[in-house]
Amino acid sequence: MTLMGKIIKKENLKRLFDDVSREFKVIAPVKKGEDYVLSEVESFSDVVLDYPTTILPPKKFLLPYKEPIFAFDAEGFKDLIPDEKIAFFGLHLCDANAIGRLDLVFWNDPYYRARRDRMLIIGISCKPTETCFCKSMKANSLTNACDLFLLAKDDKYIGFSMTEKGRKIVSQLYFEPETVNVEEVKIEYEEKLSLNLYKVERKILEDYNNPVWDETAKKCLACTNCTVVCPLCYCFDVVDETFIFPGEGLRFRCWDSCLLLSFARVAGGHNFRRDLKARYRNVYTHKFKTYIDEFGVPSCVGCGRCIIFCPANIDMREVLFKLGGV
Ligand code: SF4
Ligand code: SF4
Repeated sequence: MTLMGKIIKKENLKRLFDDVSREFKVIAPVKKGEDYVLSEVESFSDVVLDYPTTILPPKKFLLPYKEPIFAFDAEGFKDLIPDEKIAFFGLHLCDANAIGRLDLVFWNDPYYRARRDRMLIIGISCKPTETCFCKSMKANSLTNACDLFLLAKDDKYIGFSMTEKGRKIVSQLYFEPETVNVEEVKIEYEEKLSLNLYKVERKILEDYNNPVWDETAKKCLACTNCTVVCPLCYCFDVVDETFIFPGEGLRFRCWDSCLLLSFARVAGGHNFRRDLKARYRNVYTHKFKTYIDEFGVPSCVGCGRCIIFCPANIDMREVLFKLGGV
């Protein structure tokens, strides 16, 4: 497939940023100590476009950690639909693909959809790191979750518009008028382990008692770091907080994790996944079997965050390799 792009010189990125920030709250990668985070940015000089990965993924802005969804009192309730306009400036392809995959689940959720409809996503090319495996997870190519994607090329970028919002941007004067044709936008690299996604998907149920679940559950601390940093883990709980006046309050949607003991506990005290092994295997069953059955792609984009932030040094690629290595 040939893609048509337009060139923007690096020195013109500030003009693009300034234009975007006139209409949107801009979220971009910035340096924080030794790490990188996605944060609200007011000046282009704070943006770092050459970054390895951020600690938290973009989901923190799409599905905030503790989000009020409606207010209630004795008379009834009022939906709290968000109206902010967010622009991501410089998302890697894995994170942009993760938003595309979250869309598959939350498209009809009014709170998510309100943010998503007002959102602008500008992606940027990246250099894969030692923990990346987006290729195996089919998340290394261009997605139309991006309105605009900027491919680094020498001292300039080639901009590919994927939506009407993106086309409006590339019509600006700081994009050069000639069109550049590119065969395909893909991040190509040698991954640490060769994974066969389709073999993994098949083996997860066929080989349900594979010793890898026991081995890994023994090491796992159930700290939930991996699910917190994952751009595609979206388990949530619903909590009501009442005010001093009886009957008035707010309902919140808050992050949760299916790795926690309480997650599958139901009324009467029964717990469907009391053992950590069952909870750990459930994460993989959802990501690499049931999600694929439903949507045709895994609930993982190979961003590597769960590997980087696991205090027990559990490497998801090694677990998957034991199930479906080539
Ligand atoms: S499971 Fe791990 S590698 Fe996959 S998207 Fe989540 S954090 Fe990234
Ligand atoms: S980050 Fe590591 S130790 Fe913590 S729950 Fe995930 S796999 Fe277990």
